[in-house]
Amino acid sequence: MVWEVTRTVRVRLDVPDDRKSDLHATNTKFQYCANRTADWAWRYPNEDCVTSKSEAESAIYGALRDETDGLHANLVQKAIKRATDDIDNCVDRLADGENTSKPEYDTFSIVYDKRAATYYRDRVSLATVNGRVECEYDLPENPEGTPHGEYLLNDDYSFSTSTVHYDSEADEFYLHAAMKRERDVDSPEKAEDSRVLGVDCNVDDHIAVTSTGRFIGNADYLNHQRRKFEKRRASLQQTGTRTAHLAFKRIGDRFGRWSEDYLHQCSKAIVEEARCHECTHIAFENLEQIRERISDGKKFQQWAFNALQQQVEYKAEEYGIIVDTVHPKYTSQQCSKCGCTLEENRDDQHFECLDCGYTANADYNAAKNVARKLALKLQQGQKSPVGGAFCQYALESGVMTVNATDVVSDTPVSVERESTDKPPLEVGI
Ligand SMILES: [Zn+2]
Repeated sequence: MVWEVTRTVRVRLDVPDDRKSDLHATNTKFQYCANRTADWAWRYPNEDCVTSKSEAESAIYGALRDETDGLHANLVQKAIKRATDDIDNCVDRLADGENTSKPEYDTFSIVYDKRAATYYRDRVSLATVNGRVECEYDLPENPEGTPHGEYLLNDDYSFSTSTVHYDSEADEFYLHAAMKRERDVDSPEKAEDSRVLGVDCNVDDHIAVTSTGRFIGNADYLNHQRRKFEKRRASLQQTGTRTAHLAFKRIGDRFGRWSEDYLHQCSKAIVEEARCHECTHIAFENLEQIRERISDGKKFQQWAFNALQQQVEYKAEEYGIIVDTVHPKYTSQQCSKCGCTLEENRDDQHFECLDCGYTANADYNAAKNVARKLALKLQQGQKSPVGGAFCQYALESGVMTVNATDVVSDTPVSVERESTDKPPLEVGI
């Protein structure tokens, strides 16, 4: 299996002053091609719109080449593709009953693939209507840890089709470099082995608890900040002045950024934990199915859980770690040790099994159940479960291997082998 990951890095281009007009002229012709294609391909509501790039090319490519003298042939093709791709999205939206209209192109944005541009680690050579222009990148002095260092200057990543933009306020050009990394993850003996990190998300106490016993983030703090923000916003709304309105918007943006960043730190910690335990999968509870547990008044929590899962997915992808979900039924009431399921087992933050006497933090116990559920699901999905690959889940004390004869169900599973081939790990933040 080959997995692929693309990261976009924005870098300022050092365009020679006397060549800026060439880029603008190129953009004008590129836009012209995109708009002409859209005019031709947009046929709603009388006919079906044309969404095929090759169909559009065979109809109007020749004419566009004549009409945009000097524009690189590949840029004409990219403009056609941009318009047909956008129209394809519009057609999807129309099919979903949404309102949309013919795409129009009036901002600076040119698509460059490797035929119209030559990408280097420190500069790019771009085709314009007046020959090539070489632009150096404006890189940070110490790129380590920046997106530039991690992707643009990293030989594991190669350039793929990117775009050039223009910021008219600053009079600066930017390359949005699409950096692609491919990795072949086939290794015969490990092909079907999987190891799961389970994650339990919470509306109070810690935001996330992993099956390895790491407690991440502080949900109470996040909620407290949210309440503070809403109080402040409500008082501004009552004031009703224009200044208050602007402040209202500003603090809204600021809180949005702050909370996203807070969740970003949490998602980073989850992915780190998965990598540290060499996990191939991260398991969450299915958000749709935990809705009932999060009351209607807690829209913010729903948003936060969703954002957290998405951020984990995004970061995990880079390491080839798969994020999956399991049904949340009984995850908080079942004993992760003996499998006994009783509502009385859980008392707020405390879990105590009435059957075997196992005690643990309730969220930690739930995270282990989440992990096991996915491991079982993976085990069941295997072609040759007997004598084949291991499906394991990571615990603080090592790993648990689910047995091939186990079945996925809401009833307890007791046949497990524990192997402590890893030393116990310390509990994080
Ligand atoms: Zn028990």
